[in-house]
Amino acid sequence: METFKDKVVWITGASSGIGEAIAMAFAKEGARLVLTARREDELQRVKQATGLAEASVLILPMDVTQFDKAQNAAEQVIAHFGRIDIMVHNAGVSQRSYVSDTELDVYQQLMNVNFFSTVAITKAILPYMISQKNGHFIVISSVAGKIGTIMRSGYNAAKHALHGFYDSLRAEGFEHNIKVTTICPGYIRTSISLNALDASGSKFGKMDSNQEKGIPADECARRILEAVRKDKKEIYIGGFKEVAAIYLKRFLPNLLFEQVRKNIPE
Ligand code: NDP
Repeated sequence: METFKDKVVWITGASSGIGEAIAMAFAKEGARLVLTARREDELQRVKQATGLAEASVLILPMDVTQFDKAQNAAEQVIAHFGRIDIMVHNAGVSQRSYVSDTELDVYQQLMNVNFFSTVAITKAILPYMISQKNGHFIVISSVAGKIGTIMRSGYNAAKHALHGFYDSLRAEGFEHNIKVTTICPGYIRTSISLNALDASGSKFGKMDSNQEKGIPADECARRILEAVRKDKKEIYIGGFKEVAAIYLKRFLPNLLFEQVRKNIPE
């Protein structure tokens, strides 16, 4: 069983929701943390909440869509801790808008945050992981990375892209002892719908009832660490309906497509 004690874990989107819960879960295991998001004050709050020693948590505020900052950020982590053991690609933004209404720029933003930012950071840290012959990527996809649903076209596309990219990296990384665990959460109780983008890129600003009834973020984080410990390749964390939808798509796709068509979001 893998122990996370003293492992250096870099988490994006660590200022709230699932990322914050992952930070707390790794802190409990005695890991050392790098916390990234745009809101520095929230990262400071999470750092305090971990109760870890000052030197065990590096706050690295960054807009992950500024791809040219990724290399410098990776160098800061190495300068502080000397290594990166686990990279948690968690920063993400959802969507609430129809294809016919959504501006192209919104699609670009969704791809940049949810997909390209992970590529930029992965490329910056991969050489370090290869030279230390060890590394583990935790990729926070979604049930939306397995099925396409109404009003989420750009978000679904970005999450699907993660699977293609990180399945390749898992295969390429094998000889360097670099692992990939892809996580597909269903509804988790966080601010994701409040922060989702509408057709013109403004914040949706409403809490979805499905989200409100979702699994608590700390339970989601607990299951993520368990999956990483067991080197699971891909896991689903959700209610019966969301997880069943993934299997329906695999075995009875036409039935799933029909169900999705009828499932008009709030
Ligand atoms: P939150 O909205 O609570 O968290 C999103 C996090 O991403 C925040 O910490 C935010 O920090 C960060 N973030 C967003 N944009 C940027 C950016 N440009 N640069 C840096 N950081 C950014 O939602 P969740 O915790 O739910 O989302 C976390 C992940 O889980 C996402 O990838 C999401 O797609 C995924 N997910 C969530 C599900 C759910 O039901 N909640 C279901 C399936 C997947 P800040 O604003 O400070 O920059």
